[in-house]
Amino acid sequence: MTDRPRLTTTSGAPVSSNQNAKTVGRNGPVLLEDYQLIEKLAHQNRERVPERVVHAKGWGAYGTLTVTEDVTKYSRAKVFKPGSQTEMFARFSTVAGEQGAADAERDVRGFSLKFYTEEGNWDLVGNNTPVFFVADPYKFPDFIHTQKRHPRTNLRSATAMWDFWSLCPESLHQVTILMSDRGIPTDPSRMNGYGSHTFSLWNDNGERFWVKFHFKTQQGHAHFVNEEAEKVIAKSRESYQEALYGMIEEGRFPKWTMFIQVMPEGEEEQFEEKTGWSAFDLTKVWPHSMYPLIKVGEMELNRNPENYFVEVEQSAFNPSNVVPGIGFSPDRMLQGRLFSYPDAHRYRIGTHYDTLSVNKPKSPVHHYHQGGEMTLGLATNPDAYYEPNSFNGPVEDPSVEEPPHKYAGQVGRHDYRGHADHYSQPRALFELFDDGQKQRLFGNIAGAMQGVPQFIVDRQLAHFEKVHPDYGAGVRKAIAEQGRDDAEASLSTSHSAAAE
Ligand code: NDP
Repeated sequence: MTDRPRLTTTSGAPVSSNQNAKTVGRNGPVLLEDYQLIEKLAHQNRERVPERVVHAKGWGAYGTLTVTEDVTKYSRAKVFKPGSQTEMFARFSTVAGEQGAADAERDVRGFSLKFYTEEGNWDLVGNNTPVFFVADPYKFPDFIHTQKRHPRTNLRSATAMWDFWSLCPESLHQVTILMSDRGIPTDPSRMNGYGSHTFSLWNDNGERFWVKFHFKTQQGHAHFVNEEAEKVIAKSRESYQEALYGMIEEGRFPKWTMFIQVMPEGEEEQFEEKTGWSAFDLTKVWPHSMYPLIKVGEMELNRNPENYFVEVEQSAFNPSNVVPGIGFSPDRMLQGRLFSYPDAHRYRIGTHYDTLSVNKPKSPVHHYHQGGEMTLGLATNPDAYYEPNSFNGPVEDPSVEEPPHKYAGQVGRHDYRGHADHYSQPRALFELFDDGQKQRLFGNIAGAMQGVPQFIVDRQLAHFEKVHPDYGAGVRKAIAEQGRDDAEASLSTSHSAAAE
């Protein structure tokens, strides 16, 4: 015997051999009673949890949020106490690719943050873009279908993507960002993060403010053009994991400056009258000239997880995790995600996913949920398993009730997308691009449209032209220069009926 620990079964009994199965004689069959073998094989079958339908490939690290400014006039949240430092965990991801997908693909990146505050976990579950493709949760599953594999060919379908986008012009803004230089950041540290939705803050006086969250990279933006990304992918599918893990191991801790944009409650009506955009439309930004960035502090990532599966794969971010002083808004996509994200984790990891180390709040947790798979720990007060009770069980705290919302209106399926101006904001972005950026945008779009039926291309070109005549003309010219490859079109059955 050495002084190394003794190998045991999961129930703690010592194991005599981890090399040879128990057989009948040297060449005889294996015995079913070799329980440790059965246990090993059964565990192997269960080493994966269902991968996320979206954001399957991810990279994560721990860090700290340090609040350097005073924003307490907007929010009573303890996480915003000037000078406070809050431990946090970040997970970045691509959206469409499966777990084995290459990191350096053109895609939106998830930018999810979990702050372990003294009043519970606050999760900000955003992207590296300030907007999204759709504004209504009814369209969320449809949009995601277009990004995943065609049911018959099992291939990604450019036809499906451009068909959907060209029929949903509210997607133009995000499509323009995706196809711009920022569509392939070189690594997670070289991109901004955005809460994307409109959320709310509320202060000690019960005043509410609508808010957008921004995290600006201090490393500077860096991107790959398509040809560079192809070379990176040819060498490594794990370039983001290597970069993020490596820089933290080397002590080069990536940092972001945190900002907010703030709109006092009630002003959303003037905003909509003036601009034509809903302040709660996830496909639109609030222009900085109207709502300047207000600095909050700094986020630094400085510790790698010890175990990828335990901490990154099992991390579960929910926009529904807010703390007193931070709240939601009527942003429809946010309202939809408040359900769909925690539901995904209940399905993916289990009912008690928030008791796992990476998800567990650092503040005390007291509730009356009972049982279910993976229930951990014994209740400290076993007689208080219902409420109200006479046995000292936890009680509500009305002081953390958020101020009431002033909603009124007719119940119905109101469509604000149809009337909105979907072209001015992509135009403002297009006008920020220099000539090189515009040419790459045109080339990226033309490349991504290879094989898409002409009637869909024409419908999308009409949208680009409405954004800016140069945008439409530039993409048209790039398509002509690149030539057409109709291979993908022939793989899709769905377009032919629509084309006739
Ligand atoms: P500003 O000139 O004040 O801001 C321009 C913004 O565009 C900056 O935040 C900049 O980010 C960002 N940006 C620059 N290049 C790209 C790119 N390729 N993809 C995405 N973002 C980029 O103008 P406005 O506030 O009036 O916004 C004009 C347009 O800028 C918007 O229509 C929107 O498309 C885009 N934008 C606006 C944001 C906002 O919250 N207002 C946020 C991000 C983009 P950085 O400072 O990091 O370079």
